[in-house]
Amino acid sequence: MKIGVYPGTFDPITHGHTDIITRSLRVFDKVVVAVAPNPAKHPLFDLADRLDMVKLVVQDIGQVEVTCFDGLLVDYVEHSGAHAIIRGLRAISDFEHEFQMALINRKLARDVETVFLMPSEEYSYLSSTIIKDVAKHGGALTEFLHLEVARRLQERIRSVAP
Ligand code: ADP
Repeated sequence: MKIGVYPGTFDPITHGHTDIITRSLRVFDKVVVAVAPNPAKHPLFDLADRLDMVKLVVQDIGQVEVTCFDGLLVDYVEHSGAHAIIRGLRAISDFEHEFQMALINRKLARDVETVFLMPSEEYSYLSSTIIKDVAKHGGALTEFLHLEVARRLQERIRSVAP
């Protein structure tokens, strides 16, 4: 059984992430979505909320497991018995950072491959950061997020508003 680990901050999960998960299942038998705490990114949602939203969104997609990990991604991948890291590539701007990460990870664990998948064009401009900005300014979210995720994002933004 080929298993791919899809790591990220998922703050919050968007249709772009879901698109990558669905595409991954054409390549892998099972996908493990691994949510990173990533305090350095100062996530809007805490880890438990991000995990909960990912679980909610993927519940109807078969062969997806949701978990969290701390520490080195390659350590997690090796210990979990997975075969590859999955990352999404959007516009050219993702490339440099992703390329660097993939090569560092290869140095750290030479047997762990990174597989890049491109999302549908309609999601290629979408990021959690942009969506949080749209939400802060009261924009419509339903094209980009699961309905319940959109509701929780609006609620969270209201609760942190000064
Ligand atoms: P990270 O902090 O690790 O970049 P993200 O949650 O922002 O975490 O993204 C996780 C992965 O999903 C990354 O590989 C990112 O490039 C990819 N990704 C995010 N949004 C999209 C999207 N709209 N289309 C395709 N891939 C995406």
